[in-house]
Amino acid sequence: MVVVLEKHITPEQKRDLRAYLESKGYQVREIVGQEETIFGAVGIPRVDPREVELLPGVQRVIPISKPYKLASRELKKEDTIVPVGPIKVGGKRIVVIAGPCAVESREQILETARIVRASGAVALRGGAFKPRTSPYSFQGLGEEGLKYLKEAGETFGMPIVTEVVATENVELMQEYVDLFQIGARNMQNFELLKRVGRTGKPVVLKRGLSATIEEWLMAAEYLLAHGTDNVILCERGIRTFETYTRNTLDISAIPVIKKLSHLPILVDPSHATGIREKVPPVALAAIAAGADGLLIEVHPDPSKALSDGAQTLYPEQFEKLMRDIEVLAPVVGKEVAKLPSLEQGRQRGREAEKSSILNSGFRLHSIAVDRPVPHGQVPRIAFQGERGAYSEMATLSYFHFEVETYPQRSFQAVFDAVLEGKVEYGIVPLENSLAGSIHENYDLFLRYPDIKIVGETQLRIIHSLIGLPDATVEGIRKVFSHPQGLAQCARFLDEHPYMEKVPFYDTAGSVAYVAKEGKKEYAAIAHEGAARIYGMKVLKSGIETNPLNYTRFAILARAELEVGEHPNKASIVFSTPDKPGSLFKCMKVLADRNLNMKKLESRPIAGKPWQYMFYVDLELPEDLDIFKEAVAEISTLSEEEVRILGMYRASI
Ligand code: PEP
Ligand code: MN
Repeated sequence: MVVVLEKHITPEQKRDLRAYLESKGYQVREIVGQEETIFGAVGIPRVDPREVELLPGVQRVIPISKPYKLASRELKKEDTIVPVGPIKVGGKRIVVIAGPCAVESREQILETARIVRASGAVALRGGAFKPRTSPYSFQGLGEEGLKYLKEAGETFGMPIVTEVVATENVELMQEYVDLFQIGARNMQNFELLKRVGRTGKPVVLKRGLSATIEEWLMAAEYLLAHGTDNVILCERGIRTFETYTRNTLDISAIPVIKKLSHLPILVDPSHATGIREKVPPVALAAIAAGADGLLIEVHPDPSKALSDGAQTLYPEQFEKLMRDIEVLAPVVGKEVAKLPSLEQGRQRGREAEKSSILNSGFRLHSIAVDRPVPHGQVPRIAFQGERGAYSEMATLSYFHFEVETYPQRSFQAVFDAVLEGKVEYGIVPLENSLAGSIHENYDLFLRYPDIKIVGETQLRIIHSLIGLPDATVEGIRKVFSHPQGLAQCARFLDEHPYMEKVPFYDTAGSVAYVAKEGKKEYAAIAHEGAARIYGMKVLKSGIETNPLNYTRFAILARAELEVGEHPNKASIVFSTPDKPGSLFKCMKVLADRNLNMKKLESRPIAGKPWQYMFYVDLELPEDLDIFKEAVAEISTLSEEEVRILGMYRASI
């Protein structure tokens, strides 16, 4: 049962309540949610829930109707985020775990780790104990394989995932692995589940070959009931009458799991299809359906793989797939998880060893490196607008949600807050795919030379019509929003001519206004997150005329906080003399060095009528010296020295 605690329960009442429930044979888990704190009490029912409801500090008791309790969404409304080494699985991120089916040799796993890391995988997989269908097939290298896997993981700064097939191996493996994998064939090996659960380590639980979703969640329940809170599910295809593919990927399991459970779910397109060329399309489908990530087989040369070669991707195929996932991620409101750069990861390890009391400089540094996992401190981020603004939503998808966000009245106030050290980061929109550049922010960069771009993120703009909880679409007579919001929903508004359009200074601000006015005939157009914040209802979601509506945001920090992730993009600004061919000469410097320009924009220079600055975004090469030389050469051609607004990591 779910015991919802009173907001003002005292520590003594909490302790007594726990002791009471435990004395009745329940296992008790405290779950702190955004809105309420609960005790999840599971076990064989021995008390009448109505009696529990009468105890001091208890607000109400809700029985859990499903046979799986700890795994159920009834127990925990918010998504569980599972930490695996430096990465987090679940929430707004897509994690890609890749590697060979089996560890075959030290060289093979080191080479695979290098390849998959370079393409963007955040964890390394590889079987050391292989549950093969035939006793004559390669069974894995055992402990030797674990050693190689661990070495490869450490060399490339990646957590490692490997399958455990027997209870007697758990103790040995525990020393090596970051994430245990329970394979499809062992999903209902309850002794194994109990033993692995007791380690408390994160576990990825594959769906059995012919397991129903309920049986699968019951298997997860075993792990949770025996001591780990960190279970990740993995759909890998089930047995059907179809034989063309190795298994049949049950794509609908993803939204079903999302409804029934709070646990994250990965998809393994390799075992699901068994055929290499089918892996990328199915992988993309899984992401589109809401999977939290993928588990993919990749080998430096799949034709030589000792197991599952036919379903294993070539490095180039994996690289292409990762690029496609980058493109798809913002469509489903997510961002592809990234690892800190290797040098930074090592540096952090060394510094953490040196002192456990982090000085503030390091703390900021470490936040910047693994932005979703701040160590001991929650980063503060300033954004423009009211709570629930698109900028705030972009912040949450970039930094995950362990951040503190600070609304500001203007873009300039965001720059000021960063400069004055009131916050570690700021976020400002640079460009919308339909409306074009936000020039004010480009101009602010020039006025704040001590602020740099340290990151970039994209958000798909999905507008919702938001009204009071008892409002209806038909009843709305006035719609408030930022003029851009109104313009971008023109078709919806034309189809509902009885709605008068009222321009407002801010999208989220218009939701706050409608909430304050309390009129059922009023609605606002904003991000649906704003509805939650102001206790309002989404009357209709996705009302934007063009769904290909994206905004690109820059993450700002003070120059000295520049992050060390290997950058792949730079933004520079320069001005050219008023002579024929002067811009051409600057562009030629880039062309001669094979530097790919992503954007070119000109802006008038304040105080110098008819003179212009040029803003250029470009892709950075591996060798940053090439870029630095180009900047030096352009400086000789331009009126003043080239300004580098930032060198950062972006999805290019
Ligand atoms: C594997 O991941 O290598 C594996 C054996 O998977 P499954 O248990 O899904 O067959
Ligand atoms: Mn395999």
